[in-house]
Amino acid sequence: RRIITTENLEEDAKIENNLRPQLLDDYIGQAKAKEMLNVYIRAARERGDALDHVLFYGPPGLGKTTLAGIIANEMGVNIKITSGPAIEKPGEMAAILNNLQEKDVLFVDEIHRLNRQVEEVLYPAMEDYAIDIMIGKGATARSIRLDLPKFTLVGATTRAGMLTAPLRDRFGVVHRMEYYTTEELVTIIKRSARVLEVGIDEAGALALARRSRGTPRLANRLLKRVRDFAQVKYDGDITKEVADYALDLLDVDKEGLDQTDRELLLTIVNKFAGGPVGLDTLAASVGEDAGTIEDVYEPYLLKNGFIQRTPKGRIVTEKAYIHLGIEMNMEV
Ligand code: ADP
Repeated sequence: RRIITTENLEEDAKIENNLRPQLLDDYIGQAKAKEMLNVYIRAARERGDALDHVLFYGPPGLGKTTLAGIIANEMGVNIKITSGPAIEKPGEMAAILNNLQEKDVLFVDEIHRLNRQVEEVLYPAMEDYAIDIMIGKGATARSIRLDLPKFTLVGATTRAGMLTAPLRDRFGVVHRMEYYTTEELVTIIKRSARVLEVGIDEAGALALARRSRGTPRLANRLLKRVRDFAQVKYDGDITKEVADYALDLLDVDKEGLDQTDRELLLTIVNKFAGGPVGLDTLAASVGEDAGTIEDVYEPYLLKNGFIQRTPKGRIVTEKAYIHLGIEMNMEV
């Protein structure tokens, strides 16, 4: 398991819930989303209405679940949390919807993974707050409509492109989550350190933030790991020295890249003369699934300019060569 994976690991579960901000004001970054939600939540509350359905999309660990919780909290309603793959049958979705209270939030993570029949239950539910149930079989079958409480669906997906158009169109608010800046991560890390009751100085927080790949989940996980080093090998507080020492040991370099990232870059450099190389060829060469490379490895490398996507395939950039300490091959 990569320490820098932004997927939710079991080890995160224990602390993540403690570290989740509960109010919009305590939620750091994602300024556009915050401003927008602030207005919509206030308007809905003043009207005594449910909030419009909201879709968040973007890489894992950027705070989609957290925002869903904040929405419920600010609206003063309950939240029911589930995920696309967890709901297998239309009847299960119908039961969940039917059990909601007026204005409740239903959070569906990985919503692009709902199967077709389950998804179809959502269409009338989202649009008319109703579900259609089939009664009887064959020629005598008929459908009856069951009213639902007015609720808010908050959907989250890492792949907006995989959402069907009828589902996507039923969200009133669609927001793309952004990677966090180093400064925002410093603020998040200092807040988390306060909650975890560990001392951290500015330089220590900065060192951690720089290696956290723009992702709060990773910032919190690294903080927790570094805390152990601070406690056992130093006098308890997290300084730059402790952070650098621990992160070097954990093999997360100063740009937040780990062995897997560097191997991917090195493969393109050594086997494909720096690229361009097609995704499938690259995947076969490093023994990984193409989808995993595209969803998990690439986004951060692309965003930070270590690789570029061209019509002919991926190429490694000069920045990557410099970072890896390799001379660029000029004879191409
Ligand atoms: P996602 O649902 O996008 O995968 P989560 O909402 O589960 O991400 O966030 C992962 C962790 O990062 C949580 O522990 C949460 O506390 C923290 N986190 C995410 N966004 C923020 C934020 N804006 N401010 C503070 N902490 C955050």
